[in-house]
Amino acid sequence: MASVKRYRIFCHKCSHHFAVFAALYHTVNMAQWMKEKAEAHDCKAHADALAKAREPRPVNPIKASKKS
Ligand SMILES: [Zn+2]
Repeated sequence: MASVKRYRIFCHKCSHHFAVFAALYHTVNMAQWMKEKAEAHDCKAHADALAKAREPRPVNPIKASKKS
């Protein structure tokens, strides 16, 4: 039984590393699999997610109003 592992894959299109969670069987060709994953990378979504992560955390307006 294959267990889910975190794989770090490098995308040559946007020059970023990204993580993929997958349960690979030992019959899978790792190099080929990682190449396919890198090629299928959604570079724009990744860039958007990175930009979002860098933004300061916005204050939850519901929580903020309840506290006062
Ligand atoms: Zn990419």
